[in-house]
Amino acid sequence: MVRVRTVIVVGGGIVGLATARALAARGLGVTVLEKEDRWGAHQTGHNSNVVHAGLYYKPGSLKARMSVSGNRSMVDFARAHGVPVEVCGKLVVATSESELLALRVLAERAEANGVQAKLITLAEAREYEPEVAAVAALRVESTGIIDFPAVCSAIVRGLRESGADLRLSTQALGIRSGRSGGVEVATGSEVLRADALVNCAGLQSDRVARMAGLTPRARIVPFRGEYYELRPDRAHLVRGLIYPVPDPTLPFLGVHLTRMLDGSVHAGPNAVLALRREGYRWRDISAGDLWETARFPGTWRLARKYAFPVGYDEVRRSLSRARFAASLARLVPAVGPDDLVRSGAGVRAQALLPDGSMVDDFLIESAPGQVHVLNAPSPAATSALEIGTYLSERLLES
Ligand SMILES: Cc1cc2nc3c(=O)[nH]c(=O)nc-3n(C[C@H](O)[C@H](O)[C@H](O)COP(=O)(O)OP(=O)(O)OC[C@H]3O[C@@H](n4cnc5c(N)ncnc54)[C@H](O)[C@@H]3O)c2cc1C
Repeated sequence: MVRVRTVIVVGGGIVGLATARALAARGLGVTVLEKEDRWGAHQTGHNSNVVHAGLYYKPGSLKARMSVSGNRSMVDFARAHGVPVEVCGKLVVATSESELLALRVLAERAEANGVQAKLITLAEAREYEPEVAAVAALRVESTGIIDFPAVCSAIVRGLRESGADLRLSTQALGIRSGRSGGVEVATGSEVLRADALVNCAGLQSDRVARMAGLTPRARIVPFRGEYYELRPDRAHLVRGLIYPVPDPTLPFLGVHLTRMLDGSVHAGPNAVLALRREGYRWRDISAGDLWETARFPGTWRLARKYAFPVGYDEVRRSLSRARFAASLARLVPAVGPDDLVRSGAGVRAQALLPDGSMVDDFLIESAPGQVHVLNAPSPAATSALEIGTYLSERLLES
């Protein structure tokens, strides 16, 4: 086993930066490569900015463990580094009798994961959210709102102080084993060498893994999540965070209402197949990305399972503000189409298996001197510091 002294981290999103931080804390020399001209340019800079509590995830899974501990470590990190954060709690609301069983199951899951959550009546829910519609609700105390890009800036400051080599506008274009061990990464202008490599390339992570010689079974399929914002004069309708009971067969939480740190209220995200891996609008299309998605057998199996009615309804909701508003009105009936203004979008990197199933948990694969993060969707921003520590341990064991 080669003694690891230097590491190249591919990807300067929150997971790559948190991993670089954990490696630097162990005294290793770290280089971070980010192809864009800023940190957190993709998923990390286009998300809901929610510090999740950890109630949804299968007990014992990486997601469950790392979101519960990540909720604490992320809030502590933010407070220690002057990053805006507020632990405001949230409501998950059952809007019909048919959702009550799923709400109770969620309450049990929260308990199994050690998350403080309480089933409450409509009258109690209205003490938190006077405009909410519900048959019953689950009140979760530890959910918070944060500024994840500001977390990245704070990590970058610390990395600079520790002497890390931080490179923006630098894409890893080729990866191979070094002649005398370790790894070589071609960036176009030069070849960088290190003892080890960590792949935190988000939407490109399967391609980076293949570049490094792995043959990952899972393929990244991009799902765009679009947001609206409540008009400022209607923002009073929502005080905190209001979520629906999620469909347990889908990895997404359903469109929800989130008060941001600046007082604005965001609505969304939905989930539609993106026509480009980093495609934030319907008109962003990549023939190469589409061909790759279409050639993968898992895509067709997924389509068979979800295209109708789930996928069809998602597309119709994406194209119609009235339909989007109708989903929100189930949670807060006073919200109408005229209250909504289009806001940004994010693209989730969701790993898909050849059998058409979406990988539910974080997926991490190792090879000698390499660790690859092949599925880190929500709540990976919440869990980033925990993932970073875990990856640094995996790398030193690999
Ligand atoms: C719509 C949406 C809402 C979400 N809401 C939440 C939430 O509220 N709370 C939460 O915890 N999580 C949320 N998530 C999930 C969270 O944003 C992601 O799990 C997290 O940001 C993943 O971080 P990352 O560093 O792995 O990926 P990214 O942030 O995507 O970073 C990967 C980076 O790698 C770079 N890269 C790729 N290829 C190369 C290459 N070859 N060379 C160099 N650089 C490369 C990319 O440019 C990119 O910057 C949400 C995600 C989305 C899309």
